[in-house]
Amino acid sequence: MGGTVVRQEILGGVAVLTLSNPPVNALGHGLRAAIDSALEAALANDSVRAVVLAAEGKVFVGGADISEFGTPPRAPLLPDVLDRLDGAGKPVVAAIYGAALGGGLELALACHARVVGPKAKLGLPEVKLGLIPGAGGTQRLPRLVGPESAFAMMLSGEPVDAKKAVAMGLADALETGDLVEAARTHALKLAEGGAPVRVRDRGERLDPATRAGFETKATEAVKKAPGQPNVAALADVVRAGFDLPFEEAVKTERTRFLALVDDPRSKALRYAFFAERETARVPGLSKETPRREIASAAVIGAGTMGGGIALCFANAGIPVTVIETEQEALDRGLARMRATYASSVKRGSLSEAAMEERLGRITGAVGLDNAAQADIVVEAAFEEMGIKETIFSALSRIAKPGAILATNTSYLDIDRIADATDRPGDVLGLHFFSPANVMRLVEVVRAARTAPDALATGNDLARRLGKLPVTVGVCFGFVGNRMLARRSAAGERLLLAGALPHEVDAAVTEFGFRMGPFAMSDLAGLDIGWRTRKATGGKAPVADALCEAGRLGQKTGKGFYLYPEGARTGSRDPEVEALIERTSAEHGITRRSFSPDEIVARLMLPMVNEGARILEEGIAARPGDIDTIWLNGYNWPAWRGGPMHWADSLGLAAVAADLDRFAEESGDETLRPAPLLARLAQEGKRFSDWGGR
Ligand code: NAD
Repeated sequence: MGGTVVRQEILGGVAVLTLSNPPVNALGHGLRAAIDSALEAALANDSVRAVVLAAEGKVFVGGADISEFGTPPRAPLLPDVLDRLDGAGKPVVAAIYGAALGGGLELALACHARVVGPKAKLGLPEVKLGLIPGAGGTQRLPRLVGPESAFAMMLSGEPVDAKKAVAMGLADALETGDLVEAARTHALKLAEGGAPVRVRDRGERLDPATRAGFETKATEAVKKAPGQPNVAALADVVRAGFDLPFEEAVKTERTRFLALVDDPRSKALRYAFFAERETARVPGLSKETPRREIASAAVIGAGTMGGGIALCFANAGIPVTVIETEQEALDRGLARMRATYASSVKRGSLSEAAMEERLGRITGAVGLDNAAQADIVVEAAFEEMGIKETIFSALSRIAKPGAILATNTSYLDIDRIADATDRPGDVLGLHFFSPANVMRLVEVVRAARTAPDALATGNDLARRLGKLPVTVGVCFGFVGNRMLARRSAAGERLLLAGALPHEVDAAVTEFGFRMGPFAMSDLAGLDIGWRTRKATGGKAPVADALCEAGRLGQKTGKGFYLYPEGARTGSRDPEVEALIERTSAEHGITRRSFSPDEIVARLMLPMVNEGARILEEGIAARPGDIDTIWLNGYNWPAWRGGPMHWADSLGLAAVAADLDRFAEESGDETLRPAPLLARLAQEGKRFSDWGGR
C-alpha cells in the first residue's frame, strides 16, 4: 500500500492530520501505522495543544480494508490504534466531510468530538457482510446515542446523514463552512477544558435504565434472523455492555467479531461484495473506451417490461418515448406506468410533484418512426424472432446514426437480430429483469459485432439507471436463464422420480431462497415456460399437462398448487399429485423419496455444471459474474455467495461425483461434469482458482 500518508500540519497550536489513502481511505495496515505515528508525534510536540483528524477526498474513511480479513493480523491493529487515540492526553476532533463507515466511524468514535459537514454519512454497515463492528463500535456507539438507537443503527447497517447524526448525539456540530477550521476551533475549546473526555467515560457500563428498551428490540431482531449468527452476536455484545466493564465488553466484541470473520456465511457475503465490484471490469473495455452520449431514449413495447424500462429512464431524468403499434395498447401501458407511480405516492415513497415530473418525461407514441430522435432504443416487444427482425430492420432506416439499438430479449439470438440491421456494431442486449423498475440486475449482452463504445455506453447507462450491469455473451438464455432452464428441467425430473412440489419447494426455501421453484412458477405464470418450450421443442411432462388443463398458476387460481379465492400462498392439490404419479407411471418410473439435501443437489448442481460450460465458452468472464447474476436476479441466498461459490464450498470433486451419479441414473449425458468442472475437480481446485480462458 505504497503512497499511504497522513499529512501533518500545525495550525495555531492544533495538529491537523489529513488521511490520504485513495480511493476511500480504507484503514489498511499502512494507514493504521501512519495514524499511529502521526498521533504519537503530535502528542510529543509541546507546541501542539489539540489534534484534528481530517481526510483528503470526499470520503472520511470508507471502512476497514476488508481484503485483509482472514489474513494474518498485522500490528498495529485498529482496536489498539483507537485505544491510544481515545487515551490521548490532548483532545482529538474528527472532521467528517463525507462518509465515515465501519472502521471509519469507529475511528471517529474514538475521537473526543465529531464535527460533520452537510454531506457526511455515518454508519456501521458490518452487518451487511455478516459481521459486527470489531473495533469498539458496539461499545462506544451505545454510550453516545443510547443502546436502543445504537443497536438499531448497527442492525440496519444503514448510515445516518449529518442532521440526524447531530440530532441523535453522534456528532457534536454540523458545519456548513470550512470544516477543518471549525474542528480546529472546537478542538482548542476542548483543550481549554482540561483533560479530554472519552466516549467511554460516559459510563463504565451502559445505563441500566435503558436496558428494557434495548432487550425488546434485540429479542425481536434475533427472532427475525434465525440464519444470521451475526445478529445474535450483535445483541449479545451490546448486552455485554450492561453486564461488563468497557474493557471486558470490548474484548467480548473482538472475540465474537473474529469468530464471525471465519464463518462461511460472512466469507460468502464478502466474496459476493468483491465479485460484484469485479463485474465492472469488462474484458476489452477501459476508462479510455469512448462513450456515446445518451440524452434521450425510446422503448418499443409498453407491456410488462417496456413499461418498467420506461420508468427506469424517467426516474433517471432521461426523456423517453414509449412506442406501441396501436393506441389501445399504448393507453393501457401508459395507464399501468401511472398506476405504478401512484402506488409509490400512496406508500409515501414518492412525492406528488416528483411523480408529475417523471411522468412529464414519458411520451407515448404509435409507430416506430417516433424512435428517430432517440440516442438509445430499447426493444421490449413480443419474444418472437420474426417480430424482432422486422423491428430492427425498420430501425436501420429510422434510428439516427450512432443510436444504440438494444433488445430486452430473454432467449433469442442477438447476432441474428443484429443481422437484420445495417449497423450490427450498434446492437446489443439489455436484459432487464421483472419488474424492471425494481430489479437491480441487467445482463448487458455483447453480441459478436457489438462495438466497444456501444458496449461501454450500455454498461454506463445501466449504472445511470441505478442498475447493476453484468456483461455476458450471446447464447440461449444468456447466463441467468440458461442456468435456470437446467434447474427447471431438474425440477421436472424430481417430480417424475418421486418428489412432490411442496417437498421440492420446502427444500429450496430451507436452503435459503425466499420461494421454491414451483411456487415461483405459479407466481410468474406457467405459460411463460410453456411458450418457450413450444418454440424450442422442449418438453416438461408435468408442467405441460398443467398448462393444457388451463392451470397457469396464481392468475387462474390453480397451477402446481391451489389458490382458492385469490390466496397468495398455494395449498397442495391432490389432483396435481395424482397427475404427477400418473405421469411417472406412464414413463415407467418407480417413484422414491428424496431427502431435502438430495433435492437441493439434484436441482442446483446441474446449474453449476451449466455455469462451468458458460465459463468455458466465454459467455461470462468470471465465476463471480455468474454469482452476481444469481444473487441479484434470481434471489440466490446472499450468505451462500452464489452457485459457483457454493459449489466451491462443497468441493468440486464431490460436485463432479454427484453429477456423474445423476447422469448414470437418468441416462442424461448432459449431466456429466463439464470439462472445466472435471478438470478443476481432478486438480483439487476451485472455480475461484480458475484463471480464465
Ligand atoms: P408483453 O407481452 O407484456 O409486452 C409486449 C408489448 O410489445 C405489448 O404491449 C405489445 O403490444 C408490444 N408490441 C408487440 N409488437 C410490437 C411492435 N412491433 N412495435 C411496438 N410494440 C409492439 O411482454 P413482456 O413480458 O413485456 O416482454 C417483452 C420482451 O421482454 C420479450 O422479449 C421478453 O422475452 C422480454 N423479457 C420479459 C421478461 C418478463 O419477465 N416478462 C423478463 C425479461 C425479458
